[in-house]
Amino acid sequence: MVINRILIVDDSSVQCHHAVQLARTVLPSAETVFFTAPKLALKDLRAQPVDVVLVDLEMPDMDGVELISHIVNEKLAKALVIVSAKPPSLIASVGVMAESQGMPVLGSLQKPIDADILSTTLNGFGDRLIAAKNVSPLKLEFSPVQLMEGISQSQFFSYYQPKVALQDMTLSGVEALARWQHPEHGLLSPYYFIERMEKGGLIDALTLQLLDQSLAIKQHWNAMGLSFELSINLSPTSLSNTGFTDWVYDHVQVFGIAPSEITFEVTENDLLGDVAKSIQTLARLRLKGFNIAIDDYGTGFANAEQLSRIPATILKLDRSMIHGVASKSQLEKVLKSTVDLANDLGMSTVAEGVELEQDLLIVKAFGIEYVQGFIFARPLPHDDLWDWSQTKLPALKDRYFST
Ligand code: C2E
Ligand code: CA
Ligand code: CA
Repeated sequence: MVINRILIVDDSSVQCHHAVQLARTVLPSAETVFFTAPKLALKDLRAQPVDVVLVDLEMPDMDGVELISHIVNEKLAKALVIVSAKPPSLIASVGVMAESQGMPVLGSLQKPIDADILSTTLNGFGDRLIAAKNVSPLKLEFSPVQLMEGISQSQFFSYYQPKVALQDMTLSGVEALARWQHPEHGLLSPYYFIERMEKGGLIDALTLQLLDQSLAIKQHWNAMGLSFELSINLSPTSLSNTGFTDWVYDHVQVFGIAPSEITFEVTENDLLGDVAKSIQTLARLRLKGFNIAIDDYGTGFANAEQLSRIPATILKLDRSMIHGVASKSQLEKVLKSTVDLANDLGMSTVAEGVELEQDLLIVKAFGIEYVQGFIFARPLPHDDLWDWSQTKLPALKDRYFST
């Protein structure tokens, strides 16, 4: 997805021309138009919507916040870049406002704009639009009977996404991510079935079926000399199921796999529900030697005190805290303080959803230990993992080791 037309609004003609020149250098093939009067910019946008608007926050007669709300409400652009000399926290909150209404914000830039930063910001355009589209794909609705049929006909299986240790660029683990090979609709992502299964009381059946499959695959990988940890996502119902711990413990024994090679991921918010039961199950799993990770951290409301009560050893930092961190200084502060918190609690850290090289550099500089993201690998079918570890991983190591 490319940027064909970009519009720049800044009431200072010097700053405006500076931005226009940079944009034309960075994106020579795009048409760049500019306005020093926001009202004229709005008129032009209404006549011809653009791909990206670069908007200054402080302008007389109509400020940037007002202009942005028109752009967002009337869908006059596909994405925004916010520019200002104001403190990063103010810029960030305007960004959050636009994003919460579905308008991707590629970045917020401090004035004067720097060519490199503008270039990386605009380069995020394609990815962000694809991500935004994924937010509300066509909703296929499946009934509990259809879901149960899928389970009984073994139509579910997992893809495996590598998790890489930054210290030495080795494969430290994989996360099993459920997929449905639907006879009519093809390969479906968890979006189409996990929540429905949770509501229909079917999720435990799926979890146990997928866990057995993954353990058999893990046994096979171990035999090939690929030894790394396997992460499994748990729904809250599994945590309130008192028989769960014994069930998994028996099953890993059957496959000859040590509990320390398995990590269970639970989301922060799930742990705020039936806390006592959940913590009991997690504590029992820990006692048996399994690892526990808190998933999607940063999307929920757990505070440090609540975190410290959960017997988890790994904190997985959600993509929303990682993606674009290199161009959003407010996000960088949030990330830094979260890493400090994890360190204080003695938890290891995993950055999820790393897609961009500049974000990876920040993740690394902050001492985050593991990365799971498209920059290294997408979720893969199990029989592609060996190939990935033999060809792609060495190339990634050449590129990113000690940079
Ligand atoms: P999750 O546990 O947070 O898993 C990570 C999700 O982020 C996966 O989506 C993965 O494909 C995606 N992802 C990884 N790296 C990147 C990246 O760099 N960029 C972007 N944009 N995305 C990235 P997926 O496979 O669609 O899974 C969605 C969610 O479904 C999972 O989120 C998890 O909450 C749930 N899920 C998946 N499998 C299971 C399962 O077996 N049981 C349960 N209870 N939930 C599952
Ligand atoms: Ca997960
Ligand atoms: Ca996650």
